[in-house]
Amino acid sequence: MKVCFLDRDGVINVDVHFLHKPEDVKIVRSFPSLMSNLHDQGFQFIIVTNQSGLARGYFQWEDFQRTHQEILKQLPHPILKTYVCPHHPEGIVDRFREVCGCRKPEPGLIHCALLEYPQIDLEGSILIGDSPRDCWSANTCGIRSFYLSGKPVGDKGLPLNCTAVDDLYKIPGLI
Ligand SMILES: [Mg+2]
Ligand SMILES: [Zn+2]
Repeated sequence: MKVCFLDRDGVINVDVHFLHKPEDVKIVRSFPSLMSNLHDQGFQFIIVTNQSGLARGYFQWEDFQRTHQEILKQLPHPILKTYVCPHHPEGIVDRFREVCGCRKPEPGLIHCALLEYPQIDLEGSILIGDSPRDCWSANTCGIRSFYLSGKPVGDKGLPLNCTAVDDLYKIPGLI
C-alpha cells in the first residue's frame, strides 16, 4: 500500500493560528486537485499532525474533533486515518505535558501508522509537509518527502530525501 502522509495545517487547510473552530476551516486552494491526482495514482492518505494547542490549553479535544471532521468533510477523498500528537513539553494541561516521541520531528506518529498498517510500502510512500520537522520525521522512517516552502528552514536544513516545492500542484510531476 502506497501512502501519502499529510501534515494538516498549512498543507490541507490554510494555517490559521491554532485552528480550532469548524467555521474557520479553509482548504488550501490547490489541495483537492493534488489529492485527486494522488488518489488516481493509487495513494491512500494518512494525516500526521502536531496539535500542541491541546497541551497549551488553547482548545479542547472536542474542538479538535469538530474542526477535524469539518476538514475531512471538505476533502474529495477519504482519509484512512489521522494520528495526532497533543503534547508539548511546556504545556499547561497536565496529561499532555511531556517530552513525547510523537511530536514531529520525532517519528512516533508515522511509527504508529506503520504498526497499524504493516502493508505500507515505505519506498512508494511520500510525506507532504510545510515545516522541515514534518520532513525530518519522514526521513527517520525512510520515507521521502515534499516540503511546501514558505516557512524558514532553520539551522538543520532539509533532509536529503526531501524536495522543496513552492506549490502543491508541482508534486505529481516530481513523484
Ligand atoms: Mg503544518
Ligand atoms: Zn506527542
